[in-house]
Amino acid sequence: MISNPVPWPNGARCAAAITLDMDADSLLHLAHPKDSISRVSAISMLRYGPEVAIPRILETYRRFGLRQTFFVPAWCIEQYPRAIEAMLADGHEIAHHGYIHENPREGTREEQHYWLKRGIEVIERTTGKRPRGWRAPLYNFSDHSTDLLIEEGFVYDASLMGDDVPYVLHTGRGELIELPSHWGLDDWPPYVHSLDLDYVMQVMAPERAIEGFEAEFEAMWEHGGLWVAIWHPFVSGRLARWRAVERLIGHMLAKGGVWFAPLEDIAAHVRRCVDDGSYEPRVDHLPYYSAPVSATR
Ligand SMILES: [Zn+2]
Repeated sequence: MISNPVPWPNGARCAAAITLDMDADSLLHLAHPKDSISRVSAISMLRYGPEVAIPRILETYRRFGLRQTFFVPAWCIEQYPRAIEAMLADGHEIAHHGYIHENPREGTREEQHYWLKRGIEVIERTTGKRPRGWRAPLYNFSDHSTDLLIEEGFVYDASLMGDDVPYVLHTGRGELIELPSHWGLDDWPPYVHSLDLDYVMQVMAPERAIEGFEAEFEAMWEHGGLWVAIWHPFVSGRLARWRAVERLIGHMLAKGGVWFAPLEDIAAHVRRCVDDGSYEPRVDHLPYYSAPVSATR
C-alpha cells in the first residue's frame, strides 16, 4: 500500500519515534498573557511535565535502551534546566519548537526568523550543537518556514502530515527532509481537557487511546512506514497513561523489525538513502499556492 517504502537500517520493517513536545506552561502564558500567572491550577498541570513526567519518561527509556527526540520551546529550556540536563545526560536529541510556542503564521517573515534564531541560540548554548530539526508550535508551519529552516541549516522538519513515509520539501532555496505524522498520533485529542487552554475533550481511557496509536503502528510495520508519536509530558506522562505507553513500547520491541531512533538519526538515514539513490522520495514543491484560492471571479 506504500509505493516507495524506505530501506530502513538492518532490514527493519519500519521506523518508529516517540517525540515528546515539552511545552510546559509556555502554552498558558501565550493564551492568557494578562493573567496567566494567577492560573495556578493550570500552571501546576503543565509543570507536571518537566517536574514529574520527564524523570519518569527518561527512566523508561533507560530501561528499554531507547534514545529519542524532545521538542522543547527555548523558553522552557531556560525555565526548566534540570529536565533538560537529564535529557542531555542520557543522550537524547533536543530539537527546536519555537521560542515560547509562538505562532509563526501570525508574524512577518522577519519576526519568524527572529524567533527561530533566538531558539537556535538557546539550543546551541545549552546542548553545544545547533538544532537539526524543527516542529512548528501547534503545527503552525508557515509559507516562510521551509526557506527559513533551509537558511538556518536545518536537516528536517516534523510538522507536516503529507505522507506515511519521509518525503522532501523543495523550494527555490533548497530542500528539507519531512518526517511526517498526523493528529491520529497526537495525544491531545484523546486526553487534553483544560478550560484554561480552551481545549475540552471527553478524556479517553489510556487503553482506548493506546489502541489507536497501536493500530497506526501495526499498519506502519506491515507496510514499511514511519511511525512518529506526537505526545506531551504533561499529557502522556501521567501515571496510568505512561504505564500504557510502557506496555506499547514492550510490544513494539518484542514484535521485532522496528528501528526506534531519534528523528535526527532517521533524517540522516533518509538523507543518505536519497543521496545514494536507494530511496526515491516524493517531492512536495512549496509553497503549494502563490495566490489565494477563491470561487469569486
Ligand atoms: Zn507544542
